[in-house]
Amino acid sequence: MRFYKPPFAKLFFPEVITKLKNDLYITIDDSPSENTGRILDLLDKKGIKATFFCVGQNVLKYPHLQDEIVKRGHSVGLHSFFHKSAFKVSKDFYLYDAKLAGDVINSSLFRPPYGHLTFPIYNELKKKFKIVLWSYMTYDFQRVRIVRDDKISQGSIIVLHDKQDFYDVFENHLSQIIAISAKKNLSFNKL
Ligand SMILES: [Zn+2]
Repeated sequence: MRFYKPPFAKLFFPEVITKLKNDLYITIDDSPSENTGRILDLLDKKGIKATFFCVGQNVLKYPHLQDEIVKRGHSVGLHSFFHKSAFKVSKDFYLYDAKLAGDVINSSLFRPPYGHLTFPIYNELKKKFKIVLWSYMTYDFQRVRIVRDDKISQGSIIVLHDKQDFYDVFENHLSQIIAISAKKNLSFNKL
């Protein structure tokens, strides 16, 4: 499924966050998974605090991992319960799904799956949540090899994924991001 292009989204949904002023933000979508433990160890080793956008049904599948993410000093956000696109379900279903996610994930941050939003959904969600998209998706899940230097600057919000069978790409992309951040003198922060 195609992702929404965040600069485009910003035109239609002005309160959506796609970039900040300072620091560099690693955000990790679709957590938790069987990889989360390894991701947490890697982030500890590198001294990076990140933001995990968790999917409600995955939180129920790995109930101890959300607590572990928070215990290690990272932030969590909602990434829906069933990971449905706002273009594929009704507004009522979408909001019900967001409520279910809110029952298992304690956060005021919400990232819509695929970056998809509609006006009616946006108008309701923004009453309760800070809606966070991103400035740069590395397409780790498509095994893209090169992380683009020109896409990373002060305030960038980068998306990586916590997906089964993709830990090697996660590790590789994170190390490229760390090298770029060192070259550009950027510090990591969490949302
Ligand atoms: Zn997702």
